Amino acid sequence: MSLRTPETFKKYEEARKNAPPGCPLCRAKDINVIKDFTYWVIIPNDFPYDKIAKENNMLTLKRHADLDQMTAEEAAELILIKSQTLPTLPYSTLYENLPRQQSVKGHYHIHLIVLKDEFADMPA
Ligand SMILES: [Zn+2]
Repeated sequence: MSLRTPETFKKYEEARKNAPPGCPLCRAKDINVIKDFTYWVIIPNDFPYDKIAKENNMLTLKRHADLDQMTAEEAAELILIKSQTLPTLPYSTLYENLPRQQSVKGHYHIHLIVLKDEFADMPA
């Protein structure tokens, strides 16, 4: 069972099979940036959790680093983004996979989700 619809899951599996070596988040953040911060970027999720989400972007560090490698400055900006910026954007929910569920390891990221109305206690 996936949070992706069968169609998106199939595309995701095919893309993973054919992906060049290296970190997909490092590649993605150089291609399409929705919002740019000092240490963080919001990028689209090309393979969204579209069973539950109307919209699914990702907040990720600009450099390849995991949660426990974050600098004090990066951590401070993350708190500001979560407390001040994200509430002004349409997202309803943050979703963070822990290592056993992470397909991209070693590059910290949080899913920014607009839940579909049927899952939202307070539909937009
Ligand atoms: Zn990376």
